[in-house]
Amino acid sequence: MTSLAGRVVVITGGASGIGGATARLCAARGARVVIGDVDDARGEALARELTELGLSTQFVHVDVTREADCKRLIQTAIASYGPLDILITCAGILQGAFVELAELDLDTFQRVQDVNVRGTFLCMKHSVAAMGDRGGTILLIASGAGVTSRSSSVAYGTSKAAVHGLGFIAPNHLAGRPIRVNTVCPSIVDTPLKRANVEDEGRARGWSHADIEAAQQQLRDPEGVARVLAFLASDEADYVRGTVFTA
Ligand code: NAD
Repeated sequence: MTSLAGRVVVITGGASGIGGATARLCAARGARVVIGDVDDARGEALARELTELGLSTQFVHVDVTREADCKRLIQTAIASYGPLDILITCAGILQGAFVELAELDLDTFQRVQDVNVRGTFLCMKHSVAAMGDRGGTILLIASGAGVTSRSSSVAYGTSKAAVHGLGFIAPNHLAGRPIRVNTVCPSIVDTPLKRANVEDEGRARGWSHADIEAAQQQLRDPEGVARVLAFLASDEADYVRGTVFTA
């Protein structure tokens, strides 16, 4: 098992799903974890639960579309726990699924780009600045959607292709700082985001309730992705570069 003892980790979207599982695992492996999310109730509950287990965890309200929030998230992590070692960007939304391109409204398209692309860029920007010459690790969450496979949403697939592009381009723009950037593309993972997407698919295709439930039962455990992220966050992954796809 890889150790993250003493590492300072910021996880956006850490209140739920993949981010939540990753926060639990990183904290259990000794990291000092700051959960950033718009969902105060879930984020605070998770931080409280982990703190009661004696783990170092803190929740910070952040809307990743707001630059001031992203900057404050990173500064709070440093003020609480010391220099930032690892950023994991799990905050994301999936909207506009099963809507034809000609019918997709601009607000939906833009909102998805704002959270998934702008939000990832802003957290990455302020983490790179904070890491400085000391360096660190940045793990971006893209998706198979828009990268190697189809997406149910034009907006979402486009945004995830952009996140993948950001991870591809970024290493050449770090001004020599020793920062490792990996992009992780999960497959179908059992989270509120994906469950809602399966329900949208069921509605679009006229599935029965039983069909929807059967499809939801095929979804993978978020902890499996969390294990990949915890490994990539560790020094054991020092030689890993580029994009990693999960089952
Ligand atoms: P989730 O809905 O459980 O988690 C997403 C989290 O992001 C939530 O806690 C939500 O409150 C937070 N969030 C949303 N908008 C935000 C904002 N503006 N600022 C801060 N936080 C915000 O979903 P998940 O499936 O765990 O998604 C995590 C990441 O994994 C997303 O980027 C998603 O696109 C990606 N992903 C998921 C799957 C899957 O099958 N579940 C597959 C591929 C990629």
